[in-house]
Amino acid sequence: MFYESTRNKNIKLDSSNAILQGLSEEGGLFVYRELGDKKLDLNLLNDNYFDVGKEVIKIFLPNFSDADIEECLNRAYKDKFSTKDIVKISKLKDSYIMELFNGPTSAFKDYGLLLLSQFTRLSLEKSGEKSDILILTATSGDTGKAALEGFKDVDRIKIMVFYPNSGVSKIQELQMKTQEGENVNVCAINGNFDDAQTAIKKIFTNENIKKELSKFNLKLSSANSINIGRLIPQVIYYVYTYMKLVNNNEIKLNEKVNFVVPTGNFGNILAGYLAKEIGLPINKLVCASNENNVLYDFIKTGIYDKNREFKKTISPSMDILVSSNLERLLYYISDKNNEYINKLMKNLNETGKFELDKNLLEKIQEIFIAGYATDEDTRKIINKVYEEENYLLDTHTAVAYKVLLDNIDNNHKSIVLQTASPYKFALDVYTSIFDDNTIDEIEVLDKLYNKTHINIPENLKDLDKKSIRFDTVIEKDDIEKYVINTINKLS
Ligand SMILES: *Cc1c(COP(=O)(O)O)cnc(C)c1O
Repeated sequence: MFYESTRNKNIKLDSSNAILQGLSEEGGLFVYRELGDKKLDLNLLNDNYFDVGKEVIKIFLPNFSDADIEECLNRAYKDKFSTKDIVKISKLKDSYIMELFNGPTSAFKDYGLLLLSQFTRLSLEKSGEKSDILILTATSGDTGKAALEGFKDVDRIKIMVFYPNSGVSKIQELQMKTQEGENVNVCAINGNFDDAQTAIKKIFTNENIKKELSKFNLKLSSANSINIGRLIPQVIYYVYTYMKLVNNNEIKLNEKVNFVVPTGNFGNILAGYLAKEIGLPINKLVCASNENNVLYDFIKTGIYDKNREFKKTISPSMDILVSSNLERLLYYISDKNNEYINKLMKNLNETGKFELDKNLLEKIQEIFIAGYATDEDTRKIINKVYEEENYLLDTHTAVAYKVLLDNIDNNHKSIVLQTASPYKFALDVYTSIFDDNTIDEIEVLDKLYNKTHINIPENLKDLDKKSIRFDTVIEKDDIEKYVINTINKLS
Protein backbone atom coordinates (compact mmCIF):
# COMPACT_ATOMS: atom_id res chain seq x y z
CA MET A 1 0.00 0.00 0.00
CA PHE A 2 1.32 3.44 -0.86
CA TYR A 3 0.37 7.09 -0.72
CA GLU A 4 0.29 9.22 -3.85
CA SER A 5 -0.17 12.91 -4.58
CA THR A 6 -3.75 13.99 -5.28
CA ARG A 7 -2.36 15.90 -8.28
CA ASN A 8 0.04 13.38 -9.78
CA LYS A 9 -0.23 9.61 -9.53
CA ASN A 10 3.42 9.16 -10.40
CA ILE A 11 4.46 10.68 -7.09
CA LYS A 12 4.24 7.75 -4.69
CA LEU A 13 5.59 7.17 -1.18
CA ASP A 14 5.13 4.62 1.56
CA SER A 15 3.22 5.83 4.60
CA SER A 16 6.31 6.75 6.65
CA ASN A 17 7.67 8.98 3.93
CA ALA A 18 4.27 10.52 3.26
CA ILE A 19 4.14 11.51 6.93
CA LEU A 20 7.70 12.84 6.96
CA GLN A 21 7.21 14.89 3.82
CA GLY A 22 3.76 16.24 4.77
CA LEU A 23 2.94 17.83 1.42
CA SER A 24 3.85 16.64 -2.05
CA GLU A 25 6.48 18.73 -3.83
CA GLU A 26 4.08 20.03 -6.49
CA GLY A 27 1.52 21.06 -3.88
CA GLY A 28 -0.70 17.97 -3.89
CA LEU A 29 -1.80 16.15 -0.74
CA PHE A 30 -0.89 12.56 0.03
CA VAL A 31 -3.74 10.07 -0.21
CA TYR A 32 -3.91 6.28 -0.30
CA ARG A 33 -5.08 4.98 -3.66
CA GLU A 34 -6.28 1.56 -2.52
CA LEU A 35 -7.00 0.12 0.89
CA GLY A 36 -7.55 -3.29 -0.66
CA ASP A 37 -10.11 -5.24 1.31
CA LYS A 38 -9.06 -3.79 4.63
CA LYS A 39 -12.19 -2.84 6.53
CA LEU A 40 -13.23 -2.55 10.13
CA ASP A 41 -14.93 -5.59 11.54
CA LEU A 42 -17.39 -4.00 13.92
CA ASN A 43 -18.23 -7.38 15.43
CA LEU A 44 -14.70 -7.67 16.73
CA LEU A 45 -14.35 -4.15 18.09
CA ASN A 46 -14.74 -3.23 21.74
CA ASP A 47 -15.04 0.26 23.15
CA ASN A 48 -11.53 0.71 24.49
CA TYR A 49 -9.89 3.75 22.87
CA PHE A 50 -6.48 2.13 22.57
CA ASP A 51 -7.85 -1.09 21.05
CA VAL A 52 -10.00 0.79 18.55
CA GLY A 53 -7.01 3.00 17.77
CA LYS A 54 -4.83 0.01 16.98
CA GLU A 55 -7.34 -1.45 14.54
CA VAL A 56 -7.85 1.87 12.75
CA ILE A 57 -4.17 2.75 12.45
CA LYS A 58 -3.30 -0.73 11.15
CA ILE A 59 -5.55 -0.16 8.17
CA PHE A 60 -3.89 3.09 7.14
CA LEU A 61 -0.27 2.56 8.18
CA PRO A 62 0.65 -0.98 7.22
CA ASN A 63 4.38 -0.45 7.56
CA PHE A 64 4.04 0.01 11.32
CA SER A 65 3.96 -3.19 13.37
CA ASP A 66 1.34 -3.83 16.06
CA ALA A 67 3.99 -3.20 18.70
CA ASP A 68 4.97 0.10 17.02
CA ILE A 69 1.37 1.24 16.96
CA GLU A 70 0.78 0.34 20.57
CA GLU A 71 3.87 2.22 21.62
CA CYS A 72 2.82 5.29 19.65
CA LEU A 73 -0.66 5.25 21.15
CA ASN A 74 0.63 4.85 24.68
CA ARG A 75 3.25 7.56 24.41
CA ALA A 76 0.81 9.92 22.73
CA TYR A 77 -2.28 9.52 24.89
CA LYS A 78 -1.54 7.79 28.19
CA ASP A 79 -2.12 10.12 31.14
CA LYS A 80 -2.53 13.13 28.82
CA PHE A 81 -6.32 13.39 28.99
CA SER A 82 -8.44 14.40 31.94
CA THR A 83 -10.91 11.62 31.21
CA LYS A 84 -9.67 8.05 31.34
CA ASP A 85 -11.78 7.01 28.36
CA ILE A 86 -9.92 9.66 26.26
CA VAL A 87 -13.24 10.83 24.79
CA LYS A 88 -16.32 11.65 26.83
CA ILE A 89 -19.80 11.41 25.35
CA SER A 90 -22.66 13.55 26.68
CA LYS A 91 -26.30 13.54 25.77
CA LEU A 92 -28.05 16.72 24.78
CA LYS A 93 -31.78 16.32 24.14
CA ASP A 94 -32.03 13.76 21.31
CA SER A 95 -28.45 13.98 20.18
CA TYR A 96 -25.00 13.19 21.50
CA ILE A 97 -21.99 15.39 22.05
CA MET A 98 -18.57 13.87 21.44
CA GLU A 99 -16.36 15.89 23.81
CA LEU A 100 -12.95 16.25 22.22
CA PHE A 101 -11.50 18.88 24.54
CA ASN A 102 -10.10 16.90 27.44
CA GLY A 103 -6.52 16.87 26.16
CA PRO A 104 -3.52 19.04 27.10
CA THR A 105 -4.56 22.09 25.05
CA SER A 106 -8.35 21.80 25.35
CA ALA A 107 -9.10 21.41 21.64
CA PHE A 108 -9.66 18.35 19.42
CA LYS A 109 -6.37 19.09 17.66
CA ASP A 110 -4.65 17.25 20.52
CA TYR A 111 -5.84 13.89 19.17
CA GLY A 112 -4.18 14.40 15.81
CA LEU A 113 -1.03 16.13 16.90
CA LEU A 114 -0.02 14.05 19.91
CA LEU A 115 -0.07 11.00 17.71
CA LEU A 116 1.42 12.71 14.64
CA SER A 117 4.53 13.55 16.66
CA GLN A 118 4.90 9.86 17.53
CA PHE A 119 4.33 8.81 13.91
CA THR A 120 6.97 11.32 12.82
CA ARG A 121 9.51 10.09 15.35
CA LEU A 122 8.91 6.49 14.32
CA SER A 123 8.94 7.30 10.59
CA LEU A 124 12.35 8.93 10.98
CA GLU A 125 13.63 5.67 12.43
CA LYS A 126 11.90 3.41 9.89
CA SER A 127 12.89 5.32 6.80
CA GLY A 128 16.57 5.60 7.69
CA GLU A 129 16.27 9.32 7.02
CA LYS A 130 19.50 11.07 8.05
CA SER A 131 18.20 14.63 8.15
CA ASP A 132 16.29 16.04 11.09
CA ILE A 133 12.84 17.51 10.60
CA LEU A 134 11.63 21.10 10.71
CA ILE A 135 7.87 21.32 11.13
CA LEU A 136 6.30 24.50 9.77
CA THR A 137 2.74 25.14 10.79
CA ALA A 138 0.13 27.78 10.09
CA THR A 139 -2.58 28.04 12.70
CA SER A 140 -5.93 29.67 13.14
CA GLY A 141 -5.33 29.23 16.87
CA ASP A 142 -5.76 25.68 18.08
CA THR A 143 -3.42 23.72 15.82
CA GLY A 144 -0.47 25.84 16.87
CA LYS A 145 -0.70 25.11 20.55
CA ALA A 146 -1.52 21.45 20.08
CA ALA A 147 1.39 21.04 17.64
CA LEU A 148 3.78 22.78 20.02
CA GLU A 149 2.69 20.50 22.86
CA GLY A 150 2.85 17.43 20.64
CA PHE A 151 6.35 18.11 19.32
CA LYS A 152 8.07 19.93 22.16
CA ASP A 153 11.42 18.37 23.02
CA VAL A 154 10.87 15.43 20.67
CA ASP A 155 14.28 14.28 19.46
CA ARG A 156 15.42 15.28 15.94
CA ILE A 157 12.40 17.51 15.37
CA LYS A 158 12.07 21.30 15.50
CA ILE A 159 8.86 23.24 15.10
CA MET A 160 7.84 26.77 14.10
CA VAL A 161 4.28 28.04 14.33
CA PHE A 162 2.78 31.08 12.54
CA TYR A 163 -0.53 32.59 13.56
CA PRO A 164 -2.54 35.62 12.38
CA ASN A 165 -1.83 38.61 14.61
CA SER A 166 -5.11 39.59 16.30
CA GLY A 167 -6.81 36.69 14.52
CA VAL A 168 -6.85 34.35 17.52
CA SER A 169 -8.41 34.61 20.97
CA LYS A 170 -6.41 36.09 23.84
CA ILE A 171 -6.29 32.70 25.48
CA GLN A 172 -5.07 30.96 22.34
CA GLU A 173 -2.42 33.63 21.94
CA LEU A 174 -1.18 33.31 25.52
CA GLN A 175 -1.11 29.54 25.22
CA MET A 176 1.30 29.85 22.30
CA LYS A 177 3.41 32.77 23.49
CA THR A 178 4.18 31.01 26.76
CA GLN A 179 5.03 27.67 25.16
CA GLU A 180 7.92 25.79 26.72
CA GLY A 181 10.50 23.60 24.97
CA GLU A 182 13.90 24.27 23.40
CA ASN A 183 12.99 23.12 19.89
CA VAL A 184 9.99 25.43 19.40
CA ASN A 185 9.34 28.88 17.96
CA VAL A 186 6.19 30.96 17.62
CA CYS A 187 5.63 34.04 15.45
CA ALA A 188 2.64 36.24 14.59
CA ILE A 189 2.10 37.54 11.06
CA ASN A 190 0.22 40.56 9.82
CA GLY A 191 -2.35 38.71 7.73
CA ASN A 192 -5.08 36.14 8.19
CA PHE A 193 -4.92 32.35 8.44
CA ASP A 194 -5.16 31.85 4.68
CA ASP A 195 -2.16 34.17 4.19
CA ALA A 196 -0.15 32.10 6.66
CA GLN A 197 -1.22 28.78 5.16
CA THR A 198 -0.54 29.95 1.59
CA ALA A 199 2.90 31.30 2.50
CA ILE A 200 3.82 28.04 4.16
CA LYS A 201 2.55 25.89 1.32
CA LYS A 202 4.78 28.00 -0.97
CA ILE A 203 7.82 27.30 1.18
CA PHE A 204 7.18 23.58 0.69
CA THR A 205 7.53 23.99 -3.06
CA ASN A 206 10.52 26.35 -2.90
CA GLU A 207 13.84 24.74 -3.82
CA ASN A 208 15.98 27.60 -2.52
CA ILE A 209 14.75 27.40 0.98
CA LYS A 210 15.06 23.63 0.95
CA LYS A 211 18.72 24.01 -0.05
CA GLU A 212 19.24 26.56 2.66
CA LEU A 213 17.71 24.21 5.25
CA SER A 214 19.78 21.26 4.12
CA LYS A 215 22.84 23.19 5.33
CA PHE A 216 21.37 22.74 8.79
CA ASN A 217 20.68 19.05 8.04
CA LEU A 218 16.93 19.78 8.04
CA LYS A 219 14.02 18.68 5.92
CA LEU A 220 10.58 20.23 6.01
CA SER A 221 7.40 18.67 7.25
CA SER A 222 3.97 19.90 8.21
CA ALA A 223 1.75 19.52 11.24
CA ASN A 224 -1.26 20.98 9.48
CA SER A 225 -4.06 18.68 8.48
CA ILE A 226 -2.49 18.56 5.05
CA ASN A 227 -0.32 15.89 6.74
CA ILE A 228 -2.09 12.55 6.41
CA GLY A 229 -0.50 11.43 9.69
CA ARG A 230 -2.63 13.93 11.50
CA LEU A 231 -5.93 12.85 9.96
CA ILE A 232 -5.60 9.14 10.66
CA PRO A 233 -5.72 9.60 14.47
CA GLN A 234 -8.92 11.57 14.02
CA VAL A 235 -10.65 8.59 12.42
CA ILE A 236 -10.30 6.76 15.74
CA TYR A 237 -12.75 8.89 17.72
CA TYR A 238 -15.51 8.45 15.16
CA VAL A 239 -15.19 4.68 15.45
CA TYR A 240 -14.71 4.74 19.22
CA THR A 241 -17.78 6.90 19.82
CA TYR A 242 -19.87 4.65 17.62
CA MET A 243 -18.77 1.54 19.53
CA LYS A 244 -19.34 3.24 22.87
CA LEU A 245 -22.90 4.12 21.87
CA VAL A 246 -23.46 0.54 20.71
CA ASN A 247 -22.17 -0.86 23.99
CA ASN A 248 -24.30 1.57 25.97
CA ASN A 249 -27.36 0.41 24.01
CA GLU A 250 -27.94 3.86 22.60
CA ILE A 251 -27.68 2.53 19.04
CA LYS A 252 -27.72 -0.92 17.48
CA LEU A 253 -24.71 -2.44 15.79
CA ASN A 254 -24.73 -1.44 12.10
CA GLU A 255 -27.30 1.30 12.67
CA LYS A 256 -26.43 4.37 10.60
CA VAL A 257 -25.74 7.65 12.38
CA ASN A 258 -25.01 11.27 11.43
CA PHE A 259 -21.95 13.19 12.53
CA VAL A 260 -22.16 16.97 12.72
CA VAL A 261 -18.79 18.66 12.38
CA PRO A 262 -17.80 22.31 12.90
CA THR A 263 -15.61 22.75 9.86
CA GLY A 264 -12.75 24.99 8.74
CA ASN A 265 -9.94 23.32 6.86
CA PHE A 266 -12.12 20.24 6.21
CA GLY A 267 -9.73 17.97 8.12
CA ASN A 268 -11.96 16.74 10.90
CA ILE A 269 -14.90 16.00 8.63
CA LEU A 270 -12.60 14.29 6.14
CA ALA A 271 -11.55 11.94 8.95
CA GLY A 272 -15.27 11.14 9.23
CA TYR A 273 -15.33 10.37 5.52
CA LEU A 274 -12.35 8.02 5.95
CA ALA A 275 -14.18 6.33 8.83
CA LYS A 276 -17.08 5.74 6.45
CA GLU A 277 -14.70 4.41 3.80
CA ILE A 278 -13.36 1.75 6.16
CA GLY A 279 -16.86 0.65 7.05
CA LEU A 280 -18.32 2.78 9.84
CA PRO A 281 -22.12 2.98 9.29
CA ILE A 282 -22.52 6.68 8.60
CA ASN A 283 -25.66 8.16 7.10
CA LYS A 284 -24.67 11.81 6.63
CA LEU A 285 -21.69 13.95 7.47
CA VAL A 286 -22.99 17.39 8.28
CA CYS A 287 -20.57 20.18 7.40
CA ALA A 288 -21.17 23.24 9.59
CA SER A 289 -19.56 26.59 8.72
CA ASN A 290 -19.62 30.03 10.22
CA GLU A 291 -20.15 33.10 8.04
CA ASN A 292 -17.07 32.20 6.04
CA ASN A 293 -19.40 29.78 4.33
CA VAL A 294 -17.47 28.81 1.19
CA LEU A 295 -18.05 25.15 1.90
CA TYR A 296 -21.76 25.67 2.35
CA ASP A 297 -21.99 27.33 -1.06
CA PHE A 298 -19.81 24.64 -2.57
CA ILE A 299 -21.84 21.72 -1.28
CA LYS A 300 -25.06 23.41 -2.46
CA THR A 301 -23.86 24.56 -5.90
CA GLY A 302 -20.60 22.83 -6.85
CA ILE A 303 -18.91 26.20 -7.18
CA TYR A 304 -16.01 26.84 -4.84
CA ASP A 305 -15.29 30.55 -4.78
CA LYS A 306 -12.92 32.09 -2.26
CA ASN A 307 -13.22 35.56 -3.80
CA ARG A 308 -15.22 37.03 -1.00
CA GLU A 309 -14.73 39.07 2.12
CA PHE A 310 -12.87 37.26 4.89
CA LYS A 311 -14.95 37.59 8.03
CA LYS A 312 -13.63 37.55 11.56
CA THR A 313 -16.11 35.63 13.67
CA ILE A 314 -16.43 34.39 17.24
CA SER A 315 -15.48 30.91 15.98
CA PRO A 316 -12.00 31.93 14.74
CA SER A 317 -10.67 28.41 14.19
CA MET A 318 -13.16 28.15 11.34
CA ASP A 319 -12.30 31.50 9.75
CA ILE A 320 -10.91 29.90 6.62
CA LEU A 321 -11.64 30.42 2.93
CA VAL A 322 -9.34 27.78 1.47
CA SER A 323 -10.26 24.43 2.98
CA SER A 324 -7.23 22.35 2.03
CA ASN A 325 -8.58 18.91 2.77
CA LEU A 326 -11.49 19.28 0.40
CA GLU A 327 -8.92 18.32 -2.23
CA ARG A 328 -8.72 14.85 -0.72
CA LEU A 329 -12.47 14.41 -0.91
CA LEU A 330 -12.48 15.58 -4.53
CA TYR A 331 -9.82 13.01 -5.31
CA TYR A 332 -11.92 10.14 -3.96
CA ILE A 333 -15.22 11.42 -5.35
CA SER A 334 -13.70 11.79 -8.82
CA ASP A 335 -12.54 8.18 -8.62
CA LYS A 336 -8.93 9.21 -8.07
CA ASN A 337 -8.66 11.33 -11.17
CA ASN A 338 -5.37 13.14 -10.45
CA GLU A 339 -5.42 15.11 -13.67
CA TYR A 340 -8.89 16.44 -12.97
CA ILE A 341 -7.86 17.46 -9.42
CA ASN A 342 -4.77 19.13 -10.78
CA LYS A 343 -6.94 21.16 -13.13
CA LEU A 344 -9.38 22.20 -10.38
CA MET A 345 -6.56 23.25 -8.07
CA LYS A 346 -4.90 25.17 -10.87
CA ASN A 347 -8.14 27.08 -11.36
CA LEU A 348 -8.32 27.72 -7.63
CA ASN A 349 -4.76 29.05 -7.55
CA GLU A 350 -5.16 31.23 -10.61
CA THR A 351 -8.72 32.52 -10.24
CA GLY A 352 -9.66 31.71 -6.66
CA LYS A 353 -12.43 29.55 -7.98
CA PHE A 354 -13.42 26.22 -9.51
CA GLU A 355 -16.59 24.43 -10.51
CA LEU A 356 -17.19 20.74 -9.94
CA ASP A 357 -18.83 18.51 -12.57
CA LYS A 358 -22.50 18.03 -11.80
CA ASN A 359 -22.41 14.24 -11.40
CA LEU A 360 -19.60 14.58 -8.87
CA LEU A 361 -21.51 17.20 -6.93
CA GLU A 362 -24.41 14.77 -6.68
CA LYS A 363 -22.07 12.15 -5.25
CA ILE A 364 -20.94 14.63 -2.61
CA GLN A 365 -24.52 15.54 -1.77
CA GLU A 366 -25.36 11.89 -1.17
CA ILE A 367 -22.98 11.92 1.77
CA PHE A 368 -22.67 15.53 2.92
CA ILE A 369 -25.18 18.08 4.16
CA ALA A 370 -24.06 21.68 4.65
CA GLY A 371 -25.29 24.51 6.83
CA TYR A 372 -23.94 27.62 8.48
CA ALA A 373 -24.53 29.93 11.42
CA THR A 374 -23.94 33.64 11.90
CA ASP A 375 -22.36 35.00 15.08
CA GLU A 376 -25.81 36.02 16.25
CA ASP A 377 -27.17 32.49 15.70
CA THR A 378 -24.15 31.12 17.53
CA ARG A 379 -24.69 33.32 20.57
CA LYS A 380 -28.38 32.45 20.72
CA ILE A 381 -27.63 28.73 20.66
CA ILE A 382 -25.01 28.99 23.41
CA ASN A 383 -27.53 30.85 25.51
CA LYS A 384 -30.41 28.47 24.81
CA VAL A 385 -28.43 25.30 25.46
CA TYR A 386 -27.11 26.67 28.72
CA GLU A 387 -30.51 27.89 29.89
CA GLU A 388 -32.31 24.68 28.93
CA GLU A 389 -29.68 22.03 29.55
CA ASN A 390 -27.10 23.59 31.82
CA TYR A 391 -24.48 22.64 29.24
CA LEU A 392 -21.76 24.87 27.83
CA LEU A 393 -21.06 24.75 24.12
CA ASP A 394 -17.97 26.45 22.80
CA THR A 395 -18.49 28.88 19.92
CA HIS A 396 -17.45 26.39 17.21
CA THR A 397 -19.59 23.58 18.51
CA ALA A 398 -22.52 25.98 18.81
CA VAL A 399 -22.24 26.59 15.05
CA ALA A 400 -22.56 22.84 14.53
CA TYR A 401 -25.45 22.51 16.95
CA LYS A 402 -27.35 25.25 15.14
CA VAL A 403 -26.84 23.46 11.84
CA LEU A 404 -28.08 20.24 13.43
CA LEU A 405 -31.26 21.99 14.59
CA ASP A 406 -31.75 23.35 11.06
CA ASN A 407 -31.51 19.82 9.63
CA ILE A 408 -33.51 17.63 11.98
CA ASP A 409 -33.34 13.96 10.97
CA ASN A 410 -35.85 11.86 12.87
CA ASN A 411 -34.62 8.63 11.35
CA HIS A 412 -31.04 8.68 12.53
CA LYS A 413 -29.19 9.51 15.71
CA SER A 414 -26.85 12.47 15.43
CA ILE A 415 -23.52 13.05 17.11
CA VAL A 416 -22.07 16.55 17.33
CA LEU A 417 -18.30 16.91 17.63
CA GLN A 418 -17.46 19.38 20.41
CA THR A 419 -14.12 20.64 19.15
CA ALA A 420 -12.97 22.90 21.98
CA SER A 421 -13.52 23.65 25.63
CA PRO A 422 -15.92 26.57 26.12
CA TYR A 423 -13.19 28.10 28.28
CA LYS A 424 -10.95 28.54 25.26
CA PHE A 425 -13.45 31.05 23.95
CA ALA A 426 -14.68 32.10 27.36
CA LEU A 427 -15.38 35.74 26.63
CA ASP A 428 -17.82 35.07 23.80
CA VAL A 429 -19.38 32.14 25.59
CA TYR A 430 -19.85 34.18 28.76
CA THR A 431 -21.31 37.25 27.10
CA SER A 432 -23.68 35.06 25.09
CA ILE A 433 -25.25 33.88 28.33
CA PHE A 434 -24.78 36.58 30.93
CA ASP A 435 -25.48 40.26 30.76
CA ASP A 436 -22.15 41.73 31.66
CA ASN A 437 -19.87 44.07 29.79
CA THR A 438 -16.75 42.49 31.11
CA ILE A 439 -13.97 42.78 28.58
CA ASP A 440 -11.04 41.11 30.28
CA GLU A 441 -10.48 37.86 28.42
CA ILE A 442 -8.62 36.30 31.31
CA GLU A 443 -10.78 37.36 34.24
CA VAL A 444 -13.79 36.01 32.43
CA LEU A 445 -12.58 32.43 32.99
CA ASP A 446 -13.27 32.73 36.71
CA LYS A 447 -16.48 34.58 36.09
CA LEU A 448 -17.75 31.81 33.85
CA TYR A 449 -16.78 29.22 36.43
CA ASN A 450 -18.41 31.10 39.30
CA LYS A 451 -21.70 31.25 37.43
CA THR A 452 -21.75 27.76 35.93
CA HIS A 453 -19.57 25.62 38.21
CA ILE A 454 -18.30 23.82 35.15
CA ASN A 455 -14.58 23.17 35.70
CA ILE A 456 -11.86 25.23 34.03
CA PRO A 457 -9.31 22.94 32.32
CA GLU A 458 -6.03 22.92 34.26
CA ASN A 459 -3.96 24.07 31.29
CA LEU A 460 -5.97 27.27 30.94
CA LYS A 461 -5.61 28.34 34.56
CA ASP A 462 -2.98 30.95 35.40
CA LEU A 463 -2.01 31.49 31.77
CA ASP A 464 -1.48 35.18 32.47
CA LYS A 465 1.10 34.39 35.15
CA LYS A 466 3.39 32.42 32.85
CA SER A 467 6.27 34.26 31.21
CA ILE A 468 6.01 35.28 27.57
CA ARG A 469 8.71 33.57 25.49
CA PHE A 470 7.67 34.70 22.02
CA ASP A 471 6.31 38.04 20.86
CA THR A 472 7.63 38.69 17.33
CA VAL A 473 5.26 40.00 14.66
CA ILE A 474 6.32 39.96 10.99
CA GLU A 475 4.83 40.76 7.59
CA LYS A 476 3.31 37.80 5.79
CA ASP A 477 5.85 38.07 2.96
CA ASP A 478 8.72 37.71 5.40
CA ILE A 479 8.00 34.20 6.65
CA GLU A 480 10.70 32.66 4.48
CA LYS A 481 13.35 35.07 5.70
CA TYR A 482 12.22 34.56 9.27
CA VAL A 483 12.54 30.79 9.03
CA ILE A 484 16.12 31.00 7.80
CA ASN A 485 17.12 33.61 10.35
CA THR A 486 15.59 31.81 13.29
CA ILE A 487 16.54 28.24 12.60
CA ASN A 488 19.89 28.29 14.37
CA LYS A 489 18.25 29.47 17.58
CA LEU A 490 16.46 26.18 17.98
CA SER A 491 18.18 23.21 19.55
C1 LIG B 1 -9.53 23.55 13.92
C2 LIG B 1 -10.85 23.71 14.53
C3 LIG B 1 -12.03 23.51 13.81
C4 LIG B 1 -12.01 23.20 12.33
O1 LIG B 1 -11.52 21.91 12.06
P1 LIG B 1 -11.00 21.52 10.60
O2 LIG B 1 -10.38 20.19 10.74
O3 LIG B 1 -9.99 22.58 10.24
O4 LIG B 1 -12.17 21.55 9.69
C5 LIG B 1 -13.24 23.60 14.48
N1 LIG B 1 -13.30 23.93 15.78
C6 LIG B 1 -12.18 24.13 16.52
C7 LIG B 1 -12.31 24.49 17.96
C8 LIG B 1 -10.93 24.03 15.93
O5 LIG B 1 -9.82 24.23 16.66
